[in-house]
Amino acid sequence: MEFQVTVLGANSAIPAHGRNQTSQLVNIGNTALLIDCGEGAQIQLRKFKLKFSKIDFIFISHLHGDHYFGLMGLISSFHLNKRKTLLTIFGPNGLDEIITVQLKHSNTRLNFPLRFVATDTAGKQLILEEKNFRVFSIPLKHRLPCTGFLVQEKPRLLNLIKEKLQQNKLPIEAINSLRRGKDVLDEEGAVRFAVKDFTHPPKVPRAYAYCSDTAFDLELIPHIQGVNLLYHEATFGTDEEERAAETLHSTAAQAAIIAKMANVGKLLLGHFSSRYIDLAPLLEEARAEFQASYLSEEGITYKIE
Ligand SMILES: [Zn+2]
Ligand SMILES: [Zn+2]
Repeated sequence: MEFQVTVLGANSAIPAHGRNQTSQLVNIGNTALLIDCGEGAQIQLRKFKLKFSKIDFIFISHLHGDHYFGLMGLISSFHLNKRKTLLTIFGPNGLDEIITVQLKHSNTRLNFPLRFVATDTAGKQLILEEKNFRVFSIPLKHRLPCTGFLVQEKPRLLNLIKEKLQQNKLPIEAINSLRRGKDVLDEEGAVRFAVKDFTHPPKVPRAYAYCSDTAFDLELIPHIQGVNLLYHEATFGTDEEERAAETLHSTAAQAAIIAKMANVGKLLLGHFSSRYIDLAPLLEEARAEFQASYLSEEGITYKIE
């Protein structure tokens, strides 16, 4: 199953140095999720020729404008393109009101149903369950109520060991049960065919975590433990560590410490301050803590594997 993230914007408060405010497209199976929707989001989607009519779910982390000022534009384009299918938006309380008031005063009656689901910061919560994946919200520490998002593949069916099947004639129900990870029992309740004898060890489901905006926060670690890819904000370099603490943002090195302690596969740094034209020093500071650190690049697709 396809599972990848395309970064549309990786700058913080203002667009600068060719970088846009925060937004990214996550493709999982046939579903497209948009995480945050900074001002340039739909322009970036067009520029990189990404199909955005397929976006059925939008997740907004918090109500600082650099994370949602592109949302009304995108909703408006969906309307003008005669979208008919349901669009679900997850975000903090108040976002529904912001959308409603703009639709009201532009006298717009959308062609498609729009559903709003409020997020909150009371612990990790399951907010979306689909056939192949789940999405959880994760509380982040910021100046406004803010959540990250964890996209997790569901456990897949197990692969059967062909030789074992050939040696034993198994009824189809037994095969289905083994693929789902369930031992087959006889009438007395004893194990007749064991999952471990007939299947290859299960593949660990893949996961992607998005954490922006947030102060350096060790409480985040259990929520993102072992994810394949972590996107963590790195607004500042170590030179501005004090400012990062004051504004409830993180430095690149702090993002890398979180990645290391959570034992993630790879770290993507983003949400860069416009004070940095050259981001190489931020990358260097992160790599000193966690080697598998990378700078987010707009238009680049990162596979989750
Ligand atoms: Zn921000
Ligand atoms: Zn913010």
